[in-house]
Amino acid sequence: MKTATLYNSTNLKAPPASFRDALLKGLAPDGGLYMPDRLPVFSRRKLSEFSSLSYPEMAAEIISAITGDETGTDELRKICSSIYTFGIPLEHVQDKHYIMRLDQGPTASFKDFAALLMGRLMQFFLKKENRNITILTATSGDTGSAVANAFHGLDSINVIILYPANEVSELQRKQMTTLGGNVSVIEIDGKFDDCQRLVKTAFMDPSLTKFNLSSANSINIGRLLPQSVYYFYAWSRLAENTENTCIFSVPSGNFGNLAGGILAARMGLPVERFVIATNENNEVPLFMQSEEYHPITPSINCISSAMNVGHPSNLARIIAMYGGRMDEKGIIHTMPDMNAMRRDFYATFFSDNETRKTIRDFYSKYGMVLEPHGAVAWAGLQEAIANNPAYQEKLCIAVETAHPAKFRDEIKSILNIEPELPEALRKAESEREEFLSLDNDYDALRRFIIQKY
Ligand SMILES: *Cc1c(COP(=O)(O)O)cnc(C)c1O
Repeated sequence: MKTATLYNSTNLKAPPASFRDALLKGLAPDGGLYMPDRLPVFSRRKLSEFSSLSYPEMAAEIISAITGDETGTDELRKICSSIYTFGIPLEHVQDKHYIMRLDQGPTASFKDFAALLMGRLMQFFLKKENRNITILTATSGDTGSAVANAFHGLDSINVIILYPANEVSELQRKQMTTLGGNVSVIEIDGKFDDCQRLVKTAFMDPSLTKFNLSSANSINIGRLLPQSVYYFYAWSRLAENTENTCIFSVPSGNFGNLAGGILAARMGLPVERFVIATNENNEVPLFMQSEEYHPITPSINCISSAMNVGHPSNLARIIAMYGGRMDEKGIIHTMPDMNAMRRDFYATFFSDNETRKTIRDFYSKYGMVLEPHGAVAWAGLQEAIANNPAYQEKLCIAVETAHPAKFRDEIKSILNIEPELPEALRKAESEREEFLSLDNDYDALRRFIIQKY
């Protein structure tokens, strides 16, 4: 008999929730993040079977082992086979070292993996209950476009996305503003922090309760679980046998991608070590060294822009997985097991100049184009190998999280070539845009929501 997995808050002051409640709520009522209270552990034999499953089959198998009867394997199989229709290239570099490219989804960022499944799971629960929700989310670019594309056209869900007027690229904007339908996009005359403040104010406004506002940001457990699947996938395709351990290098900002990887390892995936690679927002690598945590405010603008995070929201989850407790302000109440963390993670960081040099060197050595986030991961892997010579012979996989064409200007200035836009992005470039411009003013947003829905 299966026992249902429940979800506990990292702040330990909220009642355990079902998957459905954790998914639709996002944040726990005590301000903490939901984590499953138990995880399935796949045996070596089960893991060896993964090599003959397609990505959608593997995703359904792994996620239903966590969500159990709440979603059911058949339903998940249906959903996964309709959303995961794109490839996951595992590009060989040299020795047993690879790049896993998670950039083939509809918005050419790894966030597609999670946003697509989260949208469909939300719809699954809402339809059964005949309810509607409104997703309200602030974006500095990539999350908004992934969420907008993933939720576009779903029943029972409306989407409102706020973005800062001068802080997203033209292409990022077009990926959100050319959708229409149930997706409304609002340009705010302010900064990303202002957008986030407006969203938070709306969540706390009792006069908006009837609109069932919900968030889709990376704190949602529904964004996390799908991000463990591609670790299993890469290993199942590249490992020579089930004893074969591997090293993943993960370019990190809010640390949701890494948290997905740690979940995979806890579920039995034989990971030797994770390389945590950040840009100059290096609060986590510094924490690993000094055991003191200092958020970086404001965050530093680097060319790997999706990692410009000075206080990663998923850090509380990682600390919880190592027996510690950190609240939403970043205060650590119980230290995690730092020895275990140092055993499992090699943490390092790179400046923009080092990132550019990596892109240049990688291109001249291997003839392949990395984008800034993937370059940070590759640089991190090289450093970890240099410091741990045994890794040279191991299966090592650096995660590329976006398509180089999303960073055309940067790539052009470094390599003097123009990466070709993938089909999905080409389409957004040419279509008609529709968005609203609002002042950085809560009342204006509130009026918009009330009038529109
Ligand atoms: C969001 C994002 C990251 C960082 O992922 P986290 O899960 O926040 O650590 C890295 N690269 C790209 C391209 C992203 O969009």
